[in-house]
Amino acid sequence: MTENKFTVLGSSAGMPCSDRVNAGYTLDVGGRLIQFDCGGGISSAFRRSDFDPLAVTGIIISHTHSDHISDLPLFIQMIHLAGREQQKQTSIEVYLPGEALDVIGEYLKAVYLHPEKLFCQYQLHPVPEDGGIEMEGVAILPIRNGHLKGNADIISQNNWKNKMQCYSYLIRTEGKSILYSADLGSETDLFPYLENLDLLVVESTHIDVANLLGRVAVNNVGQVVLTHFEEDYDVSQAINAAKKLGLDNFSIAHDGMSLILQSCRID
Ligand SMILES: [Zn+2]
Repeated sequence: MTENKFTVLGSSAGMPCSDRVNAGYTLDVGGRLIQFDCGGGISSAFRRSDFDPLAVTGIIISHTHSDHISDLPLFIQMIHLAGREQQKQTSIEVYLPGEALDVIGEYLKAVYLHPEKLFCQYQLHPVPEDGGIEMEGVAILPIRNGHLKGNADIISQNNWKNKMQCYSYLIRTEGKSILYSADLGSETDLFPYLENLDLLVVESTHIDVANLLGRVAVNNVGQVVLTHFEEDYDVSQAINAAKKLGLDNFSIAHDGMSLILQSCRID
């Protein structure tokens, strides 16, 4: 029996909170770590959670809003410094929305994180639009969502290069499935993917929570965790909506919350 863990490092939405950090979630697969999003404060939260920086093998970013990516350089630097301390080189795969790959690559060099000189040798890849990512025996399917579509008019009026790429991730490991919503256009972005999920980690800021929970109730979802909310977010409405539907598998995220997924490994 192996134990996989999905940890909420940061449950705050876009406005930084005084007591919670921005978006970041760590998947622990038998001691190897895959980091989803690196918002503000995530590197410190990672250290607080007692994870080993040298166990990180992948970083996957949902979209380029600051509350999901602003700690990326510091996170890479953290892995590099941990490696330098132990004189141990690691290599990690970093997946980013393709629209930002070159710019972020240049930015990392501008802050002196040239992969060639680091103990953390990172490789940048675009999130695939067709097909999935395989890492540590985990299958990760990016699902393009509508979170950034509200920018369409201003982008075309100004001829900006932005492609409005934002992805939710369907993660399958050892017979268990996790859906990490990241930020959404609306709850309907997730409707085709809810059936038989073991864990749904869903943002609260851009959705009608009651409408989503109505769908959860008829799709055999194991656990639902509501995350990514502002300091003054009233959680009682969401809790009442879950109660009304008789859902006893619903909880509100907090920083440091660990969700355990157990399964039998077949070697
Ligand atoms: Zn966000």
